[in-house]
Amino acid sequence: MSTLYIVATPIGNLGDFSPRAIEILKKVDYIACEDTRTSGKLLKHFGIDTQTFSFHLHNEHKKVGHLLNILNANQDVALISDAGMPGISDPGFLAVRAVQQEEHTVSVIPGPDAATTALVASGLPCDRYSFEGFLPHKKGRQKRLGQLAEEERTLVIYESPNRLLKLIDELEQYFGKDRLITIARELTKTFEEIQRGTVEEMKNEFTSRDSIKGEIVVVVAGKRYSE
Ligand code: SAM
Repeated sequence: MSTLYIVATPIGNLGDFSPRAIEILKKVDYIACEDTRTSGKLLKHFGIDTQTFSFHLHNEHKKVGHLLNILNANQDVALISDAGMPGISDPGFLAVRAVQQEEHTVSVIPGPDAATTALVASGLPCDRYSFEGFLPHKKGRQKRLGQLAEEERTLVIYESPNRLLKLIDELEQYFGKDRLITIARELTKTFEEIQRGTVEEMKNEFTSRDSIKGEIVVVVAGKRYSE
């Protein structure tokens, strides 16, 4: 029986890469990477010279077979994504399911992810939350927003910087201008920023900027929450 290791990588700050993650990546036979070039830089930085192959959203179905062949040949594989925890808005789920069905071992090496980092930084209740990842871009978006407006748990949403203002407008429309939100940008990086306030305040803050750059998580208070 072989092992598929699911290994979390830093979401910005290289100091967050755990010694155990590095040790596993050095000892496995192959590393499946979302993007071999992006991960190549990280691996080189940590002196990891294990052979890599690509495993991303567009070849995931095909590459699961390749991954299983390696495990069936008694070799171990680690799966990493460009940043954070594989499987969280990144490839991972299909591999874990297939590997478990073949009765190989799956071992997760935990580490950074943007969702829980933003949630804890948000100052909003963390006892119950709903991870929404990226909202649908077109079809189903309005319906999802309508449903989420009724949700009582804190919501965690991934959004790209060029769509942030659109999302804030939609939150205003569906959730109301007074709902509390936190916008977490560039977490763990040099220019980390946590902005907290009502939808209306965040709209004023971000529309006043010349440009919005970096990676963003939006955390939204649940329906009945007030301070
Ligand atoms: N697997 C990753 C994780 O564990 O968080 C998420 C990958 S998803 C493709 C990328 C999204 O995660 C970004 O668009 C952003 O919403 C969020 N993200 C990743 N790194 C971030 C960071 N340093 N600061 C804020 N958000 C981040």
